[in-house]
Amino acid sequence: MPIAPHEGRELEFVVNGIKPLASIDKKKQPEQFARALTLQHCMSIQHHADDLITVTLTENKELHDVFRILSTTKSSIIVKTSTEKHMLLGRLFGYSEEDIQEFLKAEMTCACGQCDWDKPKDS
Ligand SMILES: [Zn+2]
Repeated sequence: MPIAPHEGRELEFVVNGIKPLASIDKKKQPEQFARALTLQHCMSIQHHADDLITVTLTENKELHDVFRILSTTKSSIIVKTSTEKHMLLGRLFGYSEEDIQEFLKAEMTCACGQCDWDKPKDS
């Protein structure tokens, strides 16, 4: 599986039900970010920071909160390992169980909070 196989197609995948939720970072994907904001009337969009939004279908709008909780250190109350975290995020973002297993096997780090906290701090 490529590192970000849905990149550039997040909105399309949310609309046709492939992705339950997409996160879009303005710095990485300015076009998708701008496009998402024009779709606010037909999709559910939540800002997590000035440059980070999640997008889902209106009927799934509770999923924003799942992402929000998984993005805080509080999630460690229920999510004990980075493997668990990545499985949950993988499903939330619409990846297949095979894709998720491959990602876990490759031991890649991603843009999630967990990888950020686990990253060895320099200095
Ligand atoms: Zn990660």
